[in-house]
Amino acid sequence: MNSPKPKLIIHGGASSLNDKGGLSSVRSCLHGIVNEVYTFLLAGRSAKDAVVLGCQLLENEIRFNAGTGSVLQSDGQVRMSASLMDGARGRFSGVINVSWLKNPIYLASALQDGDDRLLSDYGGAHLARELQIPIYDPATEFRIAEWMEERKGNFQSKMARLYADPEARRGTIGVVALDVNGNIAAGTSTGGKGLEKIGRVSDSATPAGNYANRYAGVSCTGIGEDILEECLAAKVVIRRSDGLSLVEAMNRSMQESQNNNRDLGAIALDDTGAIVWGKTSEILLSAYHTGEKIDDTLEWFDNEQLFGFHQ
Ligand code: ASP
Repeated sequence: MNSPKPKLIIHGGASSLNDKGGLSSVRSCLHGIVNEVYTFLLAGRSAKDAVVLGCQLLENEIRFNAGTGSVLQSDGQVRMSASLMDGARGRFSGVINVSWLKNPIYLASALQDGDDRLLSDYGGAHLARELQIPIYDPATEFRIAEWMEERKGNFQSKMARLYADPEARRGTIGVVALDVNGNIAAGTSTGGKGLEKIGRVSDSATPAGNYANRYAGVSCTGIGEDILEECLAAKVVIRRSDGLSLVEAMNRSMQESQNNNRDLGAIALDDTGAIVWGKTSEILLSAYHTGEKIDDTLEWFDNEQLFGFHQ
């Protein structure tokens, strides 16, 4: 039997292009990362390793709200969350609200083989020390200036677009990959919504925001509370596992999200090689490799159409 062709989809959040350098700059950034991770998959590397690589590259991009460039929370601190799910093993690991490190996805991946696989702030800090990960400040000047600006206005301008401010500054990242052995993995990493209460937990390190099994994988972005209440990633994957096509699983889940006035987006792929994306938000910054070419969703503004796909 021939090995399946690898497939890959990544996202840089459901937020504005304007604060990220504009269309062509975001496009060349996302396409470059897709190209690098796809080459890694073609070399026979596992979906799980490809997801970790892709998330690290996206975390290192200061324009996205994950790793370096994460938004600041209400007290001016960066707290990041990330998770990794290896669909082949059905294994989920992650960290919630960790600080002072460069790549939260690396900590999530280091937890894959342990008995305790989801750690919060103190636990993450201890693990980072155990692994001798150097201390790193992910706050950028842009994010600090943004927070100072919000503080001037006593935090009235709703940085997290909670009130549909068109200048959204969210931008969580995610990667879903299918490798040459037919295995799927998903990873998601975020700085959160921005200006949230201390201790607020994002969807990104939960199965609502990031989920994979043998059949499909999904990574979400958008308002975390909406994603949690829809249990979006797990719902799409389970619908696909129960026999719906991935397109139908995404379509139904997005219809429900829209009916419930949710503000979110998701990327997905499955073991047949289908690549699917969906959103109720205005924009979804996603790019993918079909096996033949790289394409993206950067100019998809149609609010009537809730999903798109490549089979
Ligand atoms: N889902 C993330 C959160 O609510 C934010 C985002 O995706 O932009 O923490």
